[in-house]
Amino acid sequence: MELHELGIKAAQEGLAKGEFSSEDIVRAVIDRVHAADGKVGAYLTFDEDGALALAKANPRSVPIAIKDLINVAGQPCTCGSKILKGYVSPYDATVVKNLKANGFIPAGRVNMDEFAMGSSTENSALGVTRNPYDLSRVPGGSSGGSAAAVGGDLCIAALGTDTGGSIRQPASFCNCVGVKPSYGRVSRFGVTAFASSLDQVGPMTKSVEDAAILLKALAGHDEMDGTTPKDPVPDYPAMIAGSSLKGVKLGLPKEYFNVGGLDPEVKRVTEEAIRRCEEQGAEIVEVSLPHTEYAMAVYYIIAPAEASANLARFDGVRYGHRSAKAVDVMSLYMKSRAEGFGPEVKRRIIMGTYVLSSGYYDAYYGRAQKVRTLVKRDFDEAFKKVDALLTPCAPTPAFKLGELQDPLTMYLNDLFTIPSALAGVCAASVPSGATAAGLPVGVQFICGGFEETKLLGICRAFEEATGRVTPPRAV
Ligand code: GLN
Repeated sequence: MELHELGIKAAQEGLAKGEFSSEDIVRAVIDRVHAADGKVGAYLTFDEDGALALAKANPRSVPIAIKDLINVAGQPCTCGSKILKGYVSPYDATVVKNLKANGFIPAGRVNMDEFAMGSSTENSALGVTRNPYDLSRVPGGSSGGSAAAVGGDLCIAALGTDTGGSIRQPASFCNCVGVKPSYGRVSRFGVTAFASSLDQVGPMTKSVEDAAILLKALAGHDEMDGTTPKDPVPDYPAMIAGSSLKGVKLGLPKEYFNVGGLDPEVKRVTEEAIRRCEEQGAEIVEVSLPHTEYAMAVYYIIAPAEASANLARFDGVRYGHRSAKAVDVMSLYMKSRAEGFGPEVKRRIIMGTYVLSSGYYDAYYGRAQKVRTLVKRDFDEAFKKVDALLTPCAPTPAFKLGELQDPLTMYLNDLFTIPSALAGVCAASVPSGATAAGLPVGVQFICGGFEETKLLGICRAFEEATGRVTPPRAV
């Protein structure tokens, strides 16, 4: 095995035994990026000298690729947007501090949909990212660069963020493990905000054990983020060792299976996954999440509303792009924003501003908050009956670049990941097999809030029962 192919666990073991150094791993990743990323386009920037210097100074550390909305001091942080061109982060996000304190170093910045709005990475203003399993297809999004880098062995592991599915859906498309932690499990300080009541940073890795190791490093209380409770972080990797599916109650939400847009191959792979869980001794029960049908509408009110407020700070004064055509302060704001933001971001800002405006606030935003509570209660009720939910992760495998032109069709990709995001519970996508055409398909497991130990244990046992099916790759 070459060093760039290693996962976190194998890298840590080799480092501990002195088989290679951190510098060797970083060099191997850099060589791999030079050799293959011209075709994939996972990375936006890679400070090679900086990463090598960090590896030299921390000889047992493992390099991690960083989604380009997480601040690393001294590095660019574009969020996939022209508006942040030239911006250099003045400080480390808490997750980056946590990485460094736990034997990891940030190495390379990976592409994403602009401000994490999208499901294909095609909304990036800075370049195209392709799926390493089929270069004519998207890697998913918004953490498409992270998923392509992990799935293409262009890194050891990566950080992504998930607001409505942006870790899980690209993980499903690129054959990697992606975990969206419970809301509040991981600090958001220093992570450019999209929708503050939904955003979470999480691991994107080559195995469930790697995800457990990385999540343990990321998670925990942070004085700079009031949503992170003081609960101690469990030793996830130790606690999931030897986990099994025996006697585990898995719920199949019926609303997730009778969906028109569910691709028959995804359905087949998911049904196989269910059978495999049964063989391992899991008990399968049907459950209902009756408010599922409203989740999409609720999300597309709440997320744009929060985004419209969060993105107000990009005004041409404090960060990045400043219009050269401005003649006064108002035109400075308007022209800088008109020139800097892409079409999807503008659409969200307009929708968000509308649903928050006086006269519409109660009818849209206020109501959406109430329905969000109903969606959350569905999950509370389900978890009284079952340990976890098993669902398809995305309704389709990776689609072709340029295939989905209509924003609403793009939004439908997150049908199965949005409800759990609204509920704030934890969820993961685990590779489950491939379509007849050889495209990876992930299955989603969902557990209650702060039940990451249970979630990762189930995922690990599933992964072990499935074996790692790796369809042929294009790079
Ligand atoms: N695709 C969804 C959106 O466009 C979710 C994005 C995300 O989770 N960041 O909003």
